[in-house]
Amino acid sequence: MSVQDDFPSISGNRILITGGAGFIGSTIAEALAPDNDVRVLDDLSSGSRSNVPDDATLIEGDIRDDDALERATAGVDIIFHQAALISVEESVQRPEVTHDINVTATVKLLERAREESARFVFASSAAVYGHPESVPISEDAPTDPTSPYGLSKLAAERYVRLYAELYDLSAVALRYFNVYGPGQMSGDYSAVISVFAEQATNGEPITVEGDGSQTRDFVHVRDIVQANLLAASSDVTGVFNVGTGESVSILELAEIIHDVAGSESEIIHVEGRDGDINRSQADVSRLESTLDFEPSVSLKDGLDTVI
Ligand code: NAD
Repeated sequence: MSVQDDFPSISGNRILITGGAGFIGSTIAEALAPDNDVRVLDDLSSGSRSNVPDDATLIEGDIRDDDALERATAGVDIIFHQAALISVEESVQRPEVTHDINVTATVKLLERAREESARFVFASSAAVYGHPESVPISEDAPTDPTSPYGLSKLAAERYVRLYAELYDLSAVALRYFNVYGPGQMSGDYSAVISVFAEQATNGEPITVEGDGSQTRDFVHVRDIVQANLLAASSDVTGVFNVGTGESVSILELAEIIHDVAGSESEIIHVEGRDGDINRSQADVSRLESTLDFEPSVSLKDGLDTVI
């Protein structure tokens, strides 16, 4: 499965991808670098230099730094803004830093987009919804984030919307659900699929938090790239969910990964997290009807790309 298959064609543009040395940003860079002049602005705090495709240019710097932003945005046509402090747990420990990186730096970048008249595509998150009243969750559902991370994404996407309204900036926000795929890091706070995959392949116990009945909408990074390219090729504004429209429980996920990996690991239950979201599933009809988005990777096929 190549990341370039069946994507809307974007060529001949000068493109900035913030966070392009990270999991999602580098996958977007891979899809665009062959036919565009792609720059990546990344401080390598969680991303790595080796993720950046050879045909893209890495500017090593912090999105909070005015000089780095100025350099990275000069003459750009499109900005994919992926850089962020992404750990919910860390955001609870460091709300002020979270705000600086996820909100203040986004406003700086919006200012630069305005000066360059660049199309702006922002990586938001389903964390803006908090505990949903019902599923599937549409973009019109109430937003009630439960962490500084979720609140920072909500504030940033409101700025994105306001810049579109006040200054006519061509800007859109994509609310990603649970993204997985090759290249995702597995560490203490990383996404559950990469943790389970590592445990299953190493023969370690697969650790399900709580009873495992909590559900998630796992969307493959290839579909996240598809949504970003569709969003960049149009002039739509507003917010769009990006998920599959389906969900699976964490216990079912553990069982599927166990099977796909042909693992001998046992599945065990460990203490759940306080305040864990019970159910999550995207309503993706807005993205489907407005931008012809179609989730293309089933969970089973997607897991094959990870394990
Ligand atoms: P990632 O950690 O792999 O990528 C983030 C990148 O941003 C890293 O390369 C990191 O070095 C860089 N970065 C962080 N702070 C920076 C700073 N101050 N200046 C410059 N670069 C900085 O994470 P990811 O999963 O690829 O996430 C990309 C985006 O998608 C983030 O905005 C995240 O909030 C959003 N998102 C991800 C998920 C998911 O499930 N992975 C879900 C919803 C939203």
